[in-house]
Amino acid sequence: MKTLEVKVGNVTIGGDNPIVVQTMCNTHTSDVEASVSQCRRLAAAGAQLIRLTVPSVAQVESLRQIKETLRAEGIDTPLVADVHFSSDIAIAAAEVVEKVRINPGNFHKDHEKAREQFARLVEVCKLNGTAIRIGLNHGSLGDRITNLYGNTPLAMKEAVMEWLNMCIENDFYNVVVSLKASNTFVMVEAYRLLAKEMEESGVVFPLHLGVTEAGNGDGGRIKSAVGISALLSEGIGNTIRVSLTEDPENEIPVAQYLADRYGHKIHSSMVSLTLEGKKAIATYDAPSRERLLLDFSCDFGKRLLDKELDEVELIGCEDADYLVDELLQAARRRFYRPEYIACPGCGRTMYNLEGTFEEVKRRTAHLKGMVIAVMGCIVNGPGEMADADWGYVGEGNGKVSIYKGKSPVLRHVPETEAIDRLLELIEKAED
Ligand code: SF4
Repeated sequence: MKTLEVKVGNVTIGGDNPIVVQTMCNTHTSDVEASVSQCRRLAAAGAQLIRLTVPSVAQVESLRQIKETLRAEGIDTPLVADVHFSSDIAIAAAEVVEKVRINPGNFHKDHEKAREQFARLVEVCKLNGTAIRIGLNHGSLGDRITNLYGNTPLAMKEAVMEWLNMCIENDFYNVVVSLKASNTFVMVEAYRLLAKEMEESGVVFPLHLGVTEAGNGDGGRIKSAVGISALLSEGIGNTIRVSLTEDPENEIPVAQYLADRYGHKIHSSMVSLTLEGKKAIATYDAPSRERLLLDFSCDFGKRLLDKELDEVELIGCEDADYLVDELLQAARRRFYRPEYIACPGCGRTMYNLEGTFEEVKRRTAHLKGMVIAVMGCIVNGPGEMADADWGYVGEGNGKVSIYKGKSPVLRHVPETEAIDRLLELIEKAED
């Protein structure tokens, strides 16, 4: 799909340009030294854009210092400010970094004020050559849109089209757009709807793809590969982030593999494929286990999502049954374990997210089919959990809130007890 070109510092997204790989720091932006150090590592690992959270106007100054330090070292990777719940922060950050990500669901509470503030943001971006990402998430659509269209891919597309039309009204085209969801089916459908509508309208903004809150380990990689590859294989997508609840450096090789594969630089390591009705039987000769699971996810994820296939079999691999289970779960065709929604963490995270998520997974592994969220912060976490049955949400200061659906059922639980309390509540509700 041919899109407009968007300039983000020295990187161009869209048009005929290769797929751009990006990631996000999980340091506190106010900790300039730690953030610079992580940016160095991410740039060296191949990140072409690096995003940092900006939770307050005061942290715009930290962002400036981070950028100045990196530039003085000759690291020119463009930086992106990630902004939620404050249009004023977005406007301030647009003077400092090359791109600002806003979330339409929380840019401003009042829709009319949002339009005014967005026009101000666009003016600042025009003056400074800053790009914007309209970064909508399934979990934070906002009441106005969900009341009109439900919590659906259509609602996501409609919500984002409003904002793209605001860009066009303001004669501003340096815009990338994303419609992320943790549910691969919702994510793929939303992007497809948006791509179709933009093509019909004749103004096609570049797309940033990602499966949000994908989790970690094999599950996070397979889920990300299924959602992102389904779209890239259709020519949809210009920049990608593989969002893992791990060190962000680990995201880069996975994203680079997807960018290379759909940039036609590498091919699947599959060596044989047999089709028996809606069942596929495949063998691979992959150079590594990670490559095998990514190839397997890309080769069959979309076909499972689109119900062209119902079953897959992997031959000649030690943990074939497990990988098939993970793939079927990622494509939402069969649930053999709980479905986890876990944010990657960012500068808003106030606890050991990776360790806690592993512990939650270990202790809830028996709860097949249940949707359990582990979120890094109370500001964004509850809004982003989408359709989770239960949520573990870090409050900061060693405290946790436990959610049942969208409602908090326990607040200010000490971290040391929080997983026990969560399990007790689940057991009670299951009785
Ligand atoms: S939910 Fe997670 S990734 Fe999102 S803002 Fe909070 S800590 Fe950061």
